[in-house]
Amino acid sequence: FDMFVLAFVERLFRPTFKKDDFVLGKKLGEGAFGVVYRVSMADNPKRDGELVVKRATEYGAVEIWMNERVRRACANSCADFVYGFLEGSSKKGGEYWLVWRFEGEATLSDLMQSKDFPYNVETMILGEVQNLPKGLERENKIIQTIMRQILFALDGLHSTGIVHRDIKPQNIIFSEGSRTFKIIDLGAAADLRVGINYIPKEFLLDPRYAAPEQYIMSTQTPSAPSAPVATALSPVLWQMNLPDRFDIYSAGLIFLQMVFPSLRSDSALIQFNRQLKRCDYDLVAWRKTVEPRASPDLRKGFQLLDLDNGIGWELLTSMVRYKARQRLSAKAALAHPYFDREGLLALSFIQ
Ligand code: ADP
Ligand code: MG
Repeated sequence: FDMFVLAFVERLFRPTFKKDDFVLGKKLGEGAFGVVYRVSMADNPKRDGELVVKRATEYGAVEIWMNERVRRACANSCADFVYGFLEGSSKKGGEYWLVWRFEGEATLSDLMQSKDFPYNVETMILGEVQNLPKGLERENKIIQTIMRQILFALDGLHSTGIVHRDIKPQNIIFSEGSRTFKIIDLGAAADLRVGINYIPKEFLLDPRYAAPEQYIMSTQTPSAPSAPVATALSPVLWQMNLPDRFDIYSAGLIFLQMVFPSLRSDSALIQFNRQLKRCDYDLVAWRKTVEPRASPDLRKGFQLLDLDNGIGWELLTSMVRYKARQRLSAKAALAHPYFDREGLLALSFIQ
């Protein structure tokens, strides 16, 4: 009851908006289900560019629902959601409008395109840094920080009962305000604990980053309805199916791409996926096939993962696995010694 009152009061005092309040500016993105614009306020030029708006199709209803939930349960995980509303009637092809604070210019994908990655991210996330020589240790520290932030955000979502299902560098934005990476685009997300779930039509999943299971909760999910459907899925089902591990696999692929520059392009990632499938999704087997004739670039990636007794490689292979239940949860990944120098020392003593 308290939660309900709080939510109500919070909603009451939050600014509400309608279509005419916004002047659409630069187009930032265009997906199959919506278009995102940077906007200014019609009556307040001081707020130019502070917000972004997504004009979405019927799937926008789910996305608004997910964003409202995230706002209350794990606000730091995702872009700061401001407001969502239906413009027009849902029956007559109305649009859902979603409003967020503008977090920053760059997604992780934009940043990874740079030849200088990950150094181009260094001061953004670590603040002013001493000018150490470029090298494996320094690169490792930056990638480690990015991975920690991604896993932290994922842990927030998963603890709330939300599986994102479209984790990829394009959906991870650098928030200039908080100097951290945050998740965006909850358009394909599922909330399994409360039971808002609509479904994994195959085309909703990005095959480049999708885990092999493709369908999570496959037996419970009906074909895509035009509005959210409530199905009663218990925490027990969550435990049985471990749907959160779908996102972990995708995050593992991001880790891989950060480490290996030659796997950053779409075509290279697609080729990697084919190779991995041929190895029955066994990264160790994949490594054996590529390492003997590895390019200097690939070799450098393995060196990076092999630092500190191969703790990075250990983490990567604990995320990118065929069986969902063998993958680490986000929380377990955060506790992995890869993120903890003292843990590392302990590990080297054990070995
Ligand atoms: P879709 O992938 O469905 O087009 P996204 O929600 O991923 O929609 O947003 C598309 C693009 O818009 C993102 O890649 C990002 O560049 C930009 N964007 C989205 N939300 C924000 C935000 N809160 N702040 C800044 N840029 C954003
Ligand atoms: Mg997107």
